[in-house]
Amino acid sequence: MTISTLGIIGSGQLGALLCQAAKKLNIKTVVISDDENGPAQNYSDEFLYSQYDNKEKIKEFVSKVDIITYEFENIPINILNEIDKEKKVLPKPEINKIIQNRKLEKTFVNDLGIKTTDWAFIKQAGDVEKNKNLLPGILKSNTLGYDGHGQYVLNSLEDVKKNWCFTADYILEKKVNLKKEISIIITRYLNGETYIYEPIENIHKDQILNNSKIPAEISKEIYDEAQSKAKLISAKLDYVGTMCVEYFIDQGDNLLVNEIAPRVHNSGHLTINAFSVSQFSGHVAAVCNLGVKKAEKISNAEMFNVLGKDIEAYRSKTFSKNEFFYDYGKKSIKDKRKMGHLTILKK
Ligand code: ADP
Ligand code: MG
Repeated sequence: MTISTLGIIGSGQLGALLCQAAKKLNIKTVVISDDENGPAQNYSDEFLYSQYDNKEKIKEFVSKVDIITYEFENIPINILNEIDKEKKVLPKPEINKIIQNRKLEKTFVNDLGIKTTDWAFIKQAGDVEKNKNLLPGILKSNTLGYDGHGQYVLNSLEDVKKNWCFTADYILEKKVNLKKEISIIITRYLNGETYIYEPIENIHKDQILNNSKIPAEISKEIYDEAQSKAKLISAKLDYVGTMCVEYFIDQGDNLLVNEIAPRVHNSGHLTINAFSVSQFSGHVAAVCNLGVKKAEKISNAEMFNVLGKDIEAYRSKTFSKNEFFYDYGKKSIKDKRKMGHLTILKK
């Protein structure tokens, strides 16, 4: 089947950048979102505002597209499964089910013989005590976390507040003394071929990505290991599209998988300017089966996220020809909200 219209669930900046890539590849986009103001509507051919459990609207969305993808992973799995019965959803819903759940995600990675941080599943306060070898650690909600939301640092058992009722499931992860964080962006096609970008070095502030750069300052061994592990993960998931593997490098130069994103990723924004094929174009090409695209590197680069009201200064700045500023056009400015980014191409 020739695919001419791509449905995208979610309307944030990732959706907006996917729509822009699709347009260049001659693919029409229909975006559905429960956020009335999501910026992707400014770039999509059509925008449907709806709650994700509105069966009528979902039906309308599905009827308008040939294939469906998503820009965020926290979509209720039963809704993805329902949609998938009508039109193919890529990456397939089963992948999303694993990755949106930290326990299933880490178990999947560990079962491949790939190291993560040491961790335990936590249902109640007593489980923290049973796993006190993981302290100092970070308690993370098992589902629905992003940008550090739902995370609590536990330095000792005293930090486990008596009034915590543990209404949700958590995992407790040992805190890693980080040397560096890197990520691998990989696009995998229906025929199993992949394009793997070089490792990207990431700096987080307050658990939010602050800046990313290539080349990452890492050894050849870690470079190869990061790429080969990402390739194995994508193959075992039978993944189609672009995904990201976030890694920690500890003080002993051990490479640990932090988490997987079953979608395009903030750390891959520099691929728009630094490569001939961006993570977004690769994703659209893979899910729409447009043929394998091999990216060529154009330049080294560094990307800076623009958060909250910092966007105001950027809006009035002038940029040099090696600087590329993206304003997501979000209607309201919120503290720590990702409002835009700047990529600087470097020698
Ligand atoms: P999110 O889903 O919010 O992206 P992550 O688990 O990736 O959550 O955590 C966000 C950031 O917090 C990481 O990129 C890292 O900088 C820091 N962090 C998270 N877990 C650990 C850990 N176990 N040890 C050290 N730093 C951590
Ligand atoms: Mg993360």
